[in-house]
Amino acid sequence: MDGNDLAVFTRAVQYAQEGNKEKAFEFIKALAQKDANNIDFILWGIYTAPNTERASLLLNRAKLIKPDDLAIQQAEQWLTNEKNNWPQPGEGFPFFPPKKYIAQNMGQSTTQVILPVQPAVPVQPVMPTQQIYIQPQTFIAPQPIIINTAPVYSCPYCRSPYPPLTSTRISTGGWITFAVLLILFFPLCWVGFFSKTSYQYCGQCGVKFN
Ligand SMILES: [Zn+2]
Repeated sequence: MDGNDLAVFTRAVQYAQEGNKEKAFEFIKALAQKDANNIDFILWGIYTAPNTERASLLLNRAKLIKPDDLAIQQAEQWLTNEKNNWPQPGEGFPFFPPKKYIAQNMGQSTTQVILPVQPAVPVQPVMPTQQIYIQPQTFIAPQPIIINTAPVYSCPYCRSPYPPLTSTRISTGGWITFAVLLILFFPLCWVGFFSKTSYQYCGQCGVKFN
């Protein structure tokens, strides 16, 4: 995790602490796309997941990565409580969600790992102005991947995206019948006009396709 990611992650944790789990999850999801096996991302993802199904999936993933982790066991207890609408312990779980990314002034941080990139800002009022360095918009939002498997039609002549229209005309055979009967027995020459054939044409430029 580079300094940028750490700043984003710290911000995400801050959002979660403020109760804005939706925003926090959005940030964490973006981080997890870069580092899918980061256990801290997954644990905070569980904590901020929009629903318990999503949280369960993340929990299973966490168990695969670190089967005997205490934080994961506590995450499971937490999730069980959430699923059953049981009350969570008032003081919270000691290892879930992981505390080391919670800003110093936001929780009881007795045994916290102090990360070198984290700015030591003990005074709360200074925080809002100092947040500028994070700039989440510049690197967070992952580009939406638009998967469009449907073949896109376009007219080969005018590139019109509208599919061709179908109409009918008198077939070649009909014209031959008309010509032959005109010579041999003209009172019935109109019979040829009943021999129709359909064809497709572009509604935009009018070009005929067959
Ligand atoms: Zn066309």
